[in-house]
Amino acid sequence: MAASWSDSKAIDIPTHWHNLTADLPVKPPPDLHPKTHKPVKPEDLSPLFPDELVKQEASTDRFINIRDEVLDVYRLWRPTPLIRAKRLEKLLDTPARIYCKYEGVSPAGSHKPNTSVPQVWYNAQEGVKNIVTETGAGQWGSALAFACSLFVRASYDQKPYRKLMMQTWGAKVHPSPSTVTEAGRRILQEDPSSPGNLGIAISEAVAVAATNADTKYGLGSVLNHVLLHQTVIGEQCIKKMEALGESPDVIIGCTGGGSNFGGLCFPFIREKLNGKIHPLIQAVEPSACPWLTKGIYAYDFGDTAGMTPLMKMHTLGHDFIPDPIHAGGLRYHGMAPLISHVYELGFMEAISIPQTECFEGALKFFRSEGLIPAPEPTHAIAAAIREALHCKETGEAKVIPMAMCGHGHFDLPAYDNYLQGNLVDLSYSQDKIKASLAKIPVVVS
Ligand SMILES: *Cc1c(COP(=O)(O)O)cnc(C)c1O
Repeated sequence: MAASWSDSKAIDIPTHWHNLTADLPVKPPPDLHPKTHKPVKPEDLSPLFPDELVKQEASTDRFINIRDEVLDVYRLWRPTPLIRAKRLEKLLDTPARIYCKYEGVSPAGSHKPNTSVPQVWYNAQEGVKNIVTETGAGQWGSALAFACSLFVRASYDQKPYRKLMMQTWGAKVHPSPSTVTEAGRRILQEDPSSPGNLGIAISEAVAVAATNADTKYGLGSVLNHVLLHQTVIGEQCIKKMEALGESPDVIIGCTGGGSNFGGLCFPFIREKLNGKIHPLIQAVEPSACPWLTKGIYAYDFGDTAGMTPLMKMHTLGHDFIPDPIHAGGLRYHGMAPLISHVYELGFMEAISIPQTECFEGALKFFRSEGLIPAPEPTHAIAAAIREALHCKETGEAKVIPMAMCGHGHFDLPAYDNYLQGNLVDLSYSQDKIKASLAKIPVVVS
């Protein structure tokens, strides 16, 4: 049976988030204090985050209730559609059934408001007046600005229309490296034309939050509480697939920091650990930024200046500045600690795909299905196409749900580049990774 936009409304919104940590046979290693290398205590995090989020970050409860006020905002765009990509299947001439969990219907056009809304709500409850953040491609900045326009005021960035969107929702935006912080000024002194990266911007945002009592920090990916909030995607997808009588064989998502992937896949991994389903869970990363497939699993900083706690994760080194691929949201130096841990436990696999194959897949997708994907989920689409073409050879009718985590309406220049033939594959440089990995801190615990 085909899913459509309208019948997705029949499934209500989950009233809880799912915390995969509760289901894991081995608990993830703790985050460490950046100076003492001892496990971080809640009070270490409280200058940056409100108490409730600090609690969620370390929670071992399996389910965490979503507050009514947050559910009320989710209802502006949730439930999100699960779209059977029938026309793409036909184009590929595959017996596989491809389902696309589409998060581009949110006000900011991606999955990010699933976490920006509760983050801002908890901050507002605890009297926080300003929220500061960093944003790479501008998606997190817009999502946070949107949430702040509902509950408080906000934050930082670049990319012209995303910036206007943030300003319209009431945010203040600074390009990083900026002259607003010590870390930013230091980097500009060394290299006045530094293009910046997420790691530098995080250092700057953290510095502003740590030095202003009424200001906290909001992160759009990587941390446990962010992945937690995103599980509304997977919980809803499970219910919807059950209603359709479908059982997934391969579940695919792109990974930047890991939040849309974790959001879709963690509830499915729970079901898999319970023996109810047996899907392959597949993360797709850009060939230019291959944390899981080419990085190392080690304690590293979450930012460039080394101000955040040390997190054990698959990393390319906190100093790593990836080549400017179009999927800006996939250019962070490390993978979410929880995903890194799940990967180490062997509950998922990872592959990397070069960007031209991703854009080629995206074109097939939007010329058959009509939706223009953001550059990040083109990685998931390309992987789903690989899988579907494999099914064509073997004759298997696999069920392939994938995360279509955002639309690409602000990314048309990237498509233009591709169509003009100007987009090339940037492969990672082994030397660059080696140099950056050499600067990973040595942990004495
Ligand atoms: C931010 C973003 C990403 C990357 O972040 P994850 O935490 O890996 O999900 C991917 N796609 C879109 C559309 C984004 O906005």
